[in-house]
Amino acid sequence: MLFKPRELPQFGTAGTAAPAAAAALAEAALPQGLGRRLAANGKALFDHFNSPAWAPDLAEDIGSAEWFRGLATMLGLTLLALSLGPDSSAIAASPTMPLDSNAREEFRSQMIQPLALGGDTGRRMGATMAAIPAAGVPERTSLKFTATLGQGDSFERMLARAGVSIEDAAAVSRLVGGVVATDQIKPGTQFDIALGSRDGGPRQLDHLAFRARFDLDLTVSRAGGQLQLQSHAITVDTTPLRIRGTVGTSLYLSARAAGAPIEAIQEYLSVLDQHMSLDSGIEAGDTFDIIVSYRRASSGETQVGELLFAGLEQGGRLKAQLLRWGKDGQFFEASGMGQRRTGLIMPVVGGRITSNFGARRHPVLGYTRMHSGVDFGAGYGAPIYAVGDARVIFSGWNGGHGNYVKLDHGGGYATAYAHMSRTAVGVGGGVRAGQVIGYVGSTGLSTGPHLHYELYRNGTAVNPMSVRFTVSNQVDPGELAAYKARMAQLKTVKPGAAMQSLAPRQASVGQASNGREIDKLS
Ligand SMILES: [Zn+2]
Repeated sequence: MLFKPRELPQFGTAGTAAPAAAAALAEAALPQGLGRRLAANGKALFDHFNSPAWAPDLAEDIGSAEWFRGLATMLGLTLLALSLGPDSSAIAASPTMPLDSNAREEFRSQMIQPLALGGDTGRRMGATMAAIPAAGVPERTSLKFTATLGQGDSFERMLARAGVSIEDAAAVSRLVGGVVATDQIKPGTQFDIALGSRDGGPRQLDHLAFRARFDLDLTVSRAGGQLQLQSHAITVDTTPLRIRGTVGTSLYLSARAAGAPIEAIQEYLSVLDQHMSLDSGIEAGDTFDIIVSYRRASSGETQVGELLFAGLEQGGRLKAQLLRWGKDGQFFEASGMGQRRTGLIMPVVGGRITSNFGARRHPVLGYTRMHSGVDFGAGYGAPIYAVGDARVIFSGWNGGHGNYVKLDHGGGYATAYAHMSRTAVGVGGGVRAGQVIGYVGSTGLSTGPHLHYELYRNGTAVNPMSVRFTVSNQVDPGELAAYKARMAQLKTVKPGAAMQSLAPRQASVGQASNGREIDKLS
C-alpha cells in the first residue's frame, strides 16, 4: 500500500473492494441501521489511513512535508511491528548439580507429599521465622561430616580446611601415601571425616574413610591414641560390555535403548565413519555390535572405558569388523588384516571413467588444456578410498579442486582426490589402503558429482591407470595370530553379560528393604 502508484484515483476501486464486502457482510448480520452506520464508519477510517497523504509513494517528492509524513508512517508501523515481536530470552535449564541425600532431605522438609503413598514430610521442618535461636549450646563431643577434594586441590590442604590439626594431617598423609600417591586421588573424591573432642587445641581426628581408587577403600581410625590405616580391596569385574541390536530408524537411538553408553556410541560411529560411508553403509535391518571396556565394582559403580570392537552385520554377512589394535589405538578391519593384494585399487567402488588422462577441452573453463588426472563418475556422497597406505599431506579447500586430499605413499608417489563433498582425514595423519578419506561431491570447478583422481611420480602428474599399487598390510604372522586371538576372545563375550548383577554384598541387602514407597515413584 505504501508503494501504490500515484496515478490511481484517490478512492480507487481496488482499495474500496474489501471494505465494501465487509459492509455487505455487516449489513447481513446486524440490524439494518446499526450495520449501515458501522460500515460507513469503517469505510471512512479505512479511506482516511489509505489516503496518499498518510501513505504517499516514497520514491516521489522526496523531502516534502507529505514525504516526511509517509516516512513517519512507515517508521511508526515498523516500530509497532517490532514491539509486537515475541521476546526471545533464554529459558533456564534444570541444574546439573547432583543432589546428595542431605540436600535432598532439605528440599523434602519443604515438600508436601500425599499421605496415601506413604509421604512422610513435615517430620523435620526447615527453620522459619517462628524458630527462636537458642542462647547457647554446649559444644558437641564429636563432629561428623563430608569433605570433598577439589580440582587443583591437595590432600593436605583439604584436611586442613576440614579442621584436622597439622600433626594429624601429616600422619594421615604418611599413612595414605604408603598405599596410594596422594596426588593421584581423583578430584571430587568424598571423605567421611569424624573429629573428636577438643582438648584446648584443635579437635583430634578420630576417623577418615574414602575411596582411594576404583578398587580400593581406605579407612584411617584412631585406636589407642594412634592413627591406623585399614585398606579394603573392592572386587572389580572387568567383563567388557557388549551390546548388539538392530539399527532400526536410528542407530544412535537403538543403541541407547539397548543400554550402550553415549560415549561408546559416539566412538563407534566415528570409527565406522573412517572405514565406510555412514549415509549409505548402514541400513535399518543391520545388526550393530559394540564392545567397550567396562569395569564394575562390587559396590555398584561402573566405569565405561574405550571402544574395543565395532561390528556391523547384515543377515549374517559381516559388513565391518573393526578391532582396536596396537599401541596407538588404531582400528583394523579383520578382512583386510594380513592380506596382500596386487593390482589397480580403485578410489571409488563401481566408478566408471568419464574422462581420461590427457589433453581435452575443459567443460567449465571452455578451452583445451591438459587433464592431469582421471575422472570417475560416482554418486554424490559415495566414499572415496585411499589406494595405498600413505600419509595425508593436504586436506581441505584447494581452489578449483574444491575439497581436496593429497596422499604421500612414499617412494616418490603421491595421489590426489578432488571435488569432494567433504574430506574425512586430517593433514599429518596416516591412512591405510582402502580407508575412506572423503566423499564424492562437486566442489570447485566441477559440472557435477565426480571424483577427479591424480597420481604424481616425483612431483609430476602421470596417468593414474599406468601404475599398479601393491597393497599389503605388513603384519608379521605372530602379530596376525595375536590379532585373531584377541578378536576371537572378544567375540566370546555374551551381549549383556556385564549388565548382570554381581553377588550382592551383605550391607546392600539390608538397605533394600528400607525403601520408602514415595521414592519408588520416580
Ligand atoms: Zn578431472
